Amino acid sequence: MSEQYIQIAIPVPMRQLFTYQVPQALQTPPISVGERVQVPFGARQVIGVVIKVQSTCDIPPQKIKSVANRLHDDFHVNPTMVDFLQLCANYYHHPIGDVFQQALPKLLRDVKKSTLTPPMVWHCYPFIDDTVIAGASPTSQRDVANEDDDKHTEKLTQIIKIQNKAPKQYALLQVLNNREGISWPELRVLGYSKAQLNALVKKELVFEKEQKAHAFQWKTETLNEQNKHALSTEQALIVATITQSLSSFGCHLIDGVTGSGKTEVYLQVMEGVLAQNKQVLVLVPEIGLTPQTLMRFEQRFKVPICLHHSALNDKERLDTWLNAQQGSAAIVIGTRSAIFTPLQKLGLIIIDEEHDGSLKQQDTFRYHARDIAILRASKLNIPIVLGTATPSFESLQNALSGKYKYHKLEKRAGNSKKSPIKLIDMAQQQVEFGLSGSLKHEIKQTLARGEQVLLFLNRRGYAPAINCKECHWIANCMRCDKPYTLHQKQQLLICHHCTDQHRIPPQCPSCGSVRIAPIGQGTEQLEQRIQEIFPEASIVRIDRDSTRKKGELAKLLQEVSDKKHQILVGTQMLAKGHHFPDVTLVGVLTVDGALFSFDFRAAEQMAQLLIQVSGRAGRASKPGQVLLQTQFPEHPLLQDLVHNGYHHFARQALAERKQALLPPFSFQALFRAEANYPSYPNKFLQVLADTHCEGCEFAGPVPAAMEKKAGKFRYHLIIQAKSRKTLHKALWQLLANTPQNPWQGKVRWNLDIDPIDLNW
Ligand code: ADP
Ligand code: ZN
Ligand code: ZN
Repeated sequence: MSEQYIQIAIPVPMRQLFTYQVPQALQTPPISVGERVQVPFGARQVIGVVIKVQSTCDIPPQKIKSVANRLHDDFHVNPTMVDFLQLCANYYHHPIGDVFQQALPKLLRDVKKSTLTPPMVWHCYPFIDDTVIAGASPTSQRDVANEDDDKHTEKLTQIIKIQNKAPKQYALLQVLNNREGISWPELRVLGYSKAQLNALVKKELVFEKEQKAHAFQWKTETLNEQNKHALSTEQALIVATITQSLSSFGCHLIDGVTGSGKTEVYLQVMEGVLAQNKQVLVLVPEIGLTPQTLMRFEQRFKVPICLHHSALNDKERLDTWLNAQQGSAAIVIGTRSAIFTPLQKLGLIIIDEEHDGSLKQQDTFRYHARDIAILRASKLNIPIVLGTATPSFESLQNALSGKYKYHKLEKRAGNSKKSPIKLIDMAQQQVEFGLSGSLKHEIKQTLARGEQVLLFLNRRGYAPAINCKECHWIANCMRCDKPYTLHQKQQLLICHHCTDQHRIPPQCPSCGSVRIAPIGQGTEQLEQRIQEIFPEASIVRIDRDSTRKKGELAKLLQEVSDKKHQILVGTQMLAKGHHFPDVTLVGVLTVDGALFSFDFRAAEQMAQLLIQVSGRAGRASKPGQVLLQTQFPEHPLLQDLVHNGYHHFARQALAERKQALLPPFSFQALFRAEANYPSYPNKFLQVLADTHCEGCEFAGPVPAAMEKKAGKFRYHLIIQAKSRKTLHKALWQLLANTPQNPWQGKVRWNLDIDPIDLNW
């Protein structure tokens, strides 16, 4: 036997791999890339992933440690994924161990849980065949009884009882009968409960068993043609174009307003991919907000679908991972981090709402799921589809320049009309509780017609601040120097920046006055005020506070679609994905803050939000309208957006960015540093800024927009270049020098490649 060494990724915050020796006893069977091994690291044992296997090593033998154990199970990371994660670590200049840590399910990295169990799925008992389920009726009961099968008769009687008494259990039985093996998380998304499942277990009608690992196979009955639409010419052209190029990389931007039929296009493109027995990965902004979209996937294809999102527990996450890697899952749908799901035969990636900010992770490993999805597709030589009504400026520019294939859906599918946006000049209006007379009038009219209203205010809580009416003292968070938000229901002041909480002071701590009152308005207050104005209407508030409880969001959305409520009040959660067919009036209380932001992306984000919120109105055949309240009706950005639409606005803004050499016409990285004293981060970043980097420009260091947060002083330094290559070369140089930076031990710092939010 010869010497053998491996380089592995270990979950530690260092930008390097670690080398270990493989003892002779562990050398057979041959060790391979992607395997998980247990190794000593300091005083701990950790699990690492093998990145390289080699027979020599230039570290002195006394310094090198040995692998403690190899984990012999089915849970290897496939080599393609290993390559991909390495590319990601490189691109984001992020510690490779941490990239693996974030990309892999937690159980794969847990030393104590090194024996892992395969996924379990639910089945119906085999004797419950289609005829029984479909036609559970007294007649068929008699038919089967003739077969002299007591057990069968008994089950059948039970099923009939269920059909009459527990329709939801019966529906669950049908679902299980329709497909071979469905996991609990998938059933949960389909709206079934553990209680319903347990009831069927008790009646011995369903059971759980280990999922067999077999790659998904397309069958004729896989496709459910029932809800399939005959495509419009526009749609058909897109489906044909993408379908013709399934075997090579290409990035397709589908630019179409909400309701123009993008999802239908996804579904019909997927059909071709699944028919080749390949898998599809779909990224969506927020699973909880798109139950209707999920249902459409489930209804169209009778295939195993895995969902990947933050509400999964560790075991469920691992199951999804394994199902995808072994090819048993045909479709994986998930939020941002689903981009790291290994798929044995990935044939297509779809990113719905590609402009959405939630695709970018804003802490630790700061990746953009869309960008690395494109990287992944190009490495696999498969197509990727980006869909949105409001393309990000990056994607739009790539589409306009011909780098991406640009597909437009100009018309709304069916016969629904696009809602016009009307500006309301607040200076010309009687305003009560932040509501203009015109908006109030329209709300009244809409309610009278029996239709629903959506009021958008992107600020949760009761009021963004409280102050003393005598001495003008403001309750500020000491750790952030920003006002506390008042949460009336909880009777608390909460800092939205650091989550610090305080009781509401009975008196002004500065002058002793009891005249302390809220300033400004949040959704909680808006809800209360609207109720006062429209006492007859039922009002529902949808924001992060009102939907904290598990299942609450789904419940509220269901109540809205059941028309239990007439007015919806909410934050940007309401702008995402969800369709409210009976909402015919959208009132936007204000977006003025974004008109004067220092962040060059603020206008882009405001425009996207506004158009997305507007898209919620008038989905069905009823026409809708959007009223936007503003103090600045003459502002050129608003004028352009309202009169000429998003695309004109975007092109205009792109032209300005080109002139100013801002992204996407240049490339940026942002160094952030923070410490207990302002001088440290400033000096740390100054050392970087003083480095000569060929072809790069620095902006800063400057105090962050929020200079103080959670007691730390924060500084920013932006580095910018005309090409990615130049930028990344400079970054390698700067990072290599960092250990010599005299201030580096005194600050916490991080690096954000292609930053999208300069406020953080
Ligand atoms: P988007 O994803 O762009 O919001 P959808 O695909 O959800 O649009 O389509 C909007 C509505 O129009 C849906 O109810 C869908 O079923 C319907 N639809 C989509 N394509 C067609 C079509 N070709 N003919 C008729 N209805 C369609
Ligand atoms: Zn006072
Ligand atoms: Zn704070």
